[in-house]
Amino acid sequence: MKSFESLHKQTLKELYSQKNKPVFEQILAVIEPHSEAIVNYFYRLLLNNTVAIKFLNHDAVKNRVRVTLARWLIDSFTYHATIEELERYYQYQCEIGHIHARMDLPMSLSNYGMDIIKSQVLIVLKNSMLERDELADAMILAIQVLDWTLVVIDESYEHDMVINEKNVQALKMNVSAHNLAFDYERLCTSLSEWMRNLLLLIAQNKYDAGAQSTIRHSNFGLWISHKAHLFLTGRPELTTLVTLLDNIDEEMRELAVVTRQKNETAIEDTLERLNTVVSKSIWVLSHIAKDMMEEENGRDPLTHLFNRRYLETVMRHETSYSLEHGVLFGVVMIDIDFFKRINDIYGHENGDRILEQLAEILSQQVRAGDFVFRVGGEEFLIALADVDQLVIYRVAEKIRSVVERFKFRLNDKEITVSITISLGTAIHNRHPDFNYTIKLADEALALAKEGGRNKVVAADQSPATYSTTYSL
Ligand code: GH3
Ligand code: MG
Ligand code: MG
Repeated sequence: MKSFESLHKQTLKELYSQKNKPVFEQILAVIEPHSEAIVNYFYRLLLNNTVAIKFLNHDAVKNRVRVTLARWLIDSFTYHATIEELERYYQYQCEIGHIHARMDLPMSLSNYGMDIIKSQVLIVLKNSMLERDELADAMILAIQVLDWTLVVIDESYEHDMVINEKNVQALKMNVSAHNLAFDYERLCTSLSEWMRNLLLLIAQNKYDAGAQSTIRHSNFGLWISHKAHLFLTGRPELTTLVTLLDNIDEEMRELAVVTRQKNETAIEDTLERLNTVVSKSIWVLSHIAKDMMEEENGRDPLTHLFNRRYLETVMRHETSYSLEHGVLFGVVMIDIDFFKRINDIYGHENGDRILEQLAEILSQQVRAGDFVFRVGGEEFLIALADVDQLVIYRVAEKIRSVVERFKFRLNDKEITVSITISLGTAIHNRHPDFNYTIKLADEALALAKEGGRNKVVAADQSPATYSTTYSL
């Protein structure tokens, strides 16, 4: 649960407490007949706002949001009596925040919108026939409810934006995460070799403190001093490793002294301490490597395609690029036909072999700037930059026919199998919420399945479908 959730739910329960029920009823009776006028006023102002216009400049949004906003207003002032209704209302506000985040709507804009609504609600209340005391109660409660709503919308928005920002950073690092994990393994090996070598020299009485290269000049020392700060910024392991390197240095100075004195017991004690510090360093390094591999998990381990984790980051980028540069992008949803049957006949492991090869085909068939995701067991999504309805259809059709003709190899090298896939395409039509495009492609895919499979279906993107298939 998000940390702010329980506090907000508590406040919500207090707002919709039994004693406020008559006040809610009075507000609703006054506001409901004016809800359409309030929404119209809201739109007139926003359509004159240069920032807002970018987000409203779409028929689907224009038509939907008008209806949704009026409904939301009435919902907010309807007395919610049960915990279930309050929970639903709370989740609804969170969802609005998620939608704003997906649209990359500036927070200042949703605050501005809420200000307009609040002032209109208060004006309508003021012009009503409510008695002085009733009016005061109604105004106070209306302000409290709208303020609460805005806080929840904003916090849910911020929560999404922070996650998105983290993923953007992780995506940048991801390219090198695998190499880094490899680096760590080499460092661990080099450190244990260094220790083994030292023990050997001591055992053979060949240890010469002056001639022995110091830990600072070993791979491990060089890496800590020069590279670690680049990769481990902000991680507690960085400080730990620097301290451990200092400790090794100290023990080595001690070792030089005690070997010169030929103090056997002291030599043994020092070596033991040294061994502990070195083991700890190896443990810390392998711990980091494991962490980095987990971060690497933004990739699907079987196919090495991106998994869902980066879907939102990529789609958000494509959406804002498209809105800014006026180029379109498209989404292809792919699902293997009768894959359950393939698993049943050839076994799950062979099913996996097919998934790997299909992933390879998909990656080969797209351009360098496109993204291929594995979004489900045998479901894939391709985000293609700079395409139109015709181009995306051609790409999808090409993929379909390449897959149809491909002989998939199984674990038993003698056997090959053929499979087919169904595909649904949709073009991002400048709708600021990218989920809309994915949903259209998904629906087109369902039609391809219904239509007999091994087919490409393009989403019907005539304006009429916007309002029926999408609701904010
Ligand atoms: P259709 O899509 O054409 O309607 O039929 P289907 O048999 O593919 O239907 P469905 O989507 O219901 O089943 C998907 C099957 O894919 C279920 C499961 O056996 C298989 N599957 C999902 N993930 C994996 C995976 O990671 N490896 C393997 N081998 N099989 C998987
Ligand atoms: Mg499926
Ligand atoms: Mg399937």
